[in-house]
Amino acid sequence: MKKRLLSFSMAVCMVCLMAMTSCSAAEIPAASSGVDMDSAKLKSETRTVSTFSDVPAGAWYAEAVNYCQQNGIMSGTSSTTFSPEATLTRAMLATMLHHMSGTPAVSDAPVFTDAVAGSWYSDAVSWAAKNGVISGYGGGTFGVNDPTTREQAVTILWRCAGEPEITATADISDLSSISSWARAAVYWANANGLLDGMMENSRFDPKETIKRGEVASMLYHYLSNDANSHPELPAGGKLLVAYFSATGTTRTVAEKLAETTGGDLFEIVPAQPYTSADLNYNTDCRANAEQNDPSARPAIANTVENMGQYDTVLIGYPIWWGRAPKIIHTFLEAYDLSGKTVATFCTSGGSGHEDATLHDYEPNANWLEGRRFTGGTDRNTLEEWISALDLPEPSPAVAAAASAASKADFNFDTKRVTLNSGYEMPINGLGTYSLHGETCVSSVKSALASGVRLIDTASAYGNEEEVGQAVREAIEELGLKREDIFVITKIYPGSEMANPEQSIQACLDRLDLGYVDMMLLHHPDQNDVNAYRAMEKFVEDGKIRSLGLSNWYVEELEEFLPQVSITPALVQNEIHPYYQENDVIPYIQDLGIVVQGWYPLGGRGHTAELLGDEVISGIATAHGVSSAQVILRWNLQKGVVVIPGSSNPDHIKENTELYDFTLTDGDMARINALDRNEKHDWY
Ligand code: NAP
Repeated sequence: MKKRLLSFSMAVCMVCLMAMTSCSAAEIPAASSGVDMDSAKLKSETRTVSTFSDVPAGAWYAEAVNYCQQNGIMSGTSSTTFSPEATLTRAMLATMLHHMSGTPAVSDAPVFTDAVAGSWYSDAVSWAAKNGVISGYGGGTFGVNDPTTREQAVTILWRCAGEPEITATADISDLSSISSWARAAVYWANANGLLDGMMENSRFDPKETIKRGEVASMLYHYLSNDANSHPELPAGGKLLVAYFSATGTTRTVAEKLAETTGGDLFEIVPAQPYTSADLNYNTDCRANAEQNDPSARPAIANTVENMGQYDTVLIGYPIWWGRAPKIIHTFLEAYDLSGKTVATFCTSGGSGHEDATLHDYEPNANWLEGRRFTGGTDRNTLEEWISALDLPEPSPAVAAAASAASKADFNFDTKRVTLNSGYEMPINGLGTYSLHGETCVSSVKSALASGVRLIDTASAYGNEEEVGQAVREAIEELGLKREDIFVITKIYPGSEMANPEQSIQACLDRLDLGYVDMMLLHHPDQNDVNAYRAMEKFVEDGKIRSLGLSNWYVEELEEFLPQVSITPALVQNEIHPYYQENDVIPYIQDLGIVVQGWYPLGGRGHTAELLGDEVISGIATAHGVSSAQVILRWNLQKGVVVIPGSSNPDHIKENTELYDFTLTDGDMARINALDRNEKHDWY
């Protein structure tokens, strides 16, 4: 959808420029039934401007109101009034966008129970929903009379523009109150002048209802802004695999399907998780009660961001008493899948088949035949099902974007991964936290002699000079080149991030290696964005090659990423079998960012328990390796780079011997099951 609408902005933009340059103030083009894309018609039809008594000539939005009226995008609320202070309903916004798009005819579009047939907005609402411009609420309603907030309006317009990426930073003082799903849109709008006149003291007030005068101004700036003339991209089919999994069986199938199709993965997370007692079907359990209650709609804790972008949705669920769990009904009621291709897959070890009653929720979707799978279904079987479905082809643009942002693959032959910065990084290294003085120098040299080519240090560890010295000596003694060794360092919150240029240069000086391969922000901080931007300048100067973050999780990344120009190449977070970050890792990897784990062996003080864990030592015995090697290999097989710390040359060497054995799916699953969400440090 977002691609299809791009054309209107360019056409209208041309129209408005012609109108503005070729007409006198008293003679302006008429477009009584919306903006006509035929510029010749606009040029030949003119009429006198009507002035609105409630739009003073000097009002900041006056020119915009005139413009929108002249081009048939907005009309008055009466023949003499525009009501610039009145709030904008969803039906009004749909109508404006429909007009801007040339008021295309609507067929086979969803009909909403709260939209009056034949009313001024009915076609626009159907058009907006059909094209994913504004989705209905589910349950057959559109919310025609509901007011639109500022962040909603901006996001809708941004979608129409093709969701352009914006890297410039917006000067917005109430950034934290903007919903994460709206931030990119607000940055874009601000950077392109769409919010001019709307920001008092740099405040956006995202949750305020948007007023008609403000919308006129926003649309005026949008349509007369060259920055919105984006090249048209081919339409294509983006795919979402949405699933609910109570015990992990459906998750396994969903993950494989997402990999097979290149689609996005969305887990439907119940607001109240299901315990094993809830699922004990032989008792009067919660699952049974819900399945027997037609009105049960268990709440969902999360939402699909921008469902409008997907053309195909695969929905997965376990079979409960022959039917889909009621949470799937909640999901279908929450979204409008009209016009999309939809298929379900269900999981059950025995009998059962897809729950066709679900089709009733989305009568306007193109339902394809669903399938039942067992938990252990192999990839070939899934691929066969997908091929037989004959899904819409992804467009080249969508496929290219997907591959650019796809998880960076580890090469187990070269023991390296290619970062999004274009540089290669080894996937196992040495951590130097708590190594100092001569111990640090000898440990780093011992690691380099054992074949380690990745060293992790930080300003806060107080050992950058020793690390630099060890690297320089090893280059000399082992005949290595500087480019063979990948050194990571970090700058710390507080005074270092408050004076980033100085701190970055100090790291470079202490290491004294010419350049640093990667620099991370050690933790989030009030000055982190500025500090990162300073690091970006050092990248431009060639003194740093790649950038990254440490101790950044999903929310922090959502807030941070839109504000910087260079996407981080790496995020370094605590990861070990007792603290697995299973939600965070795939999120980061899906952004094309490599994940690196600190405290891979649990960290000092915790290694004995982890290395002695029965499951881990059992797997180690079976493979004839050590517990440490099992843990490090488990990380690598999850796509997590490892940097174990050690001052013991035997351990250092042992920690490099990770490539002559492979953990089975069963081994991986058993280690995955050890997660306790047990952090071993505060950050
Ligand atoms: P770790 O790697 O989980 O554990 C280090 C401990 O494991 C040491 O006591 C070491 O003792 C022992 N060990 C290492 N290899 C072993 C083996 N093969 N068998 C038995 N014991 C072994 O903890 P860490 O060093 O604290 O963390 C790793 C690195 O992550 C740090 O060095 C640092 O670079 C980084 N880090 C980053 C952050 C951050 O905020 N970004 C925070 C913490 C750590 P021996 O010396 O006796 O081998």
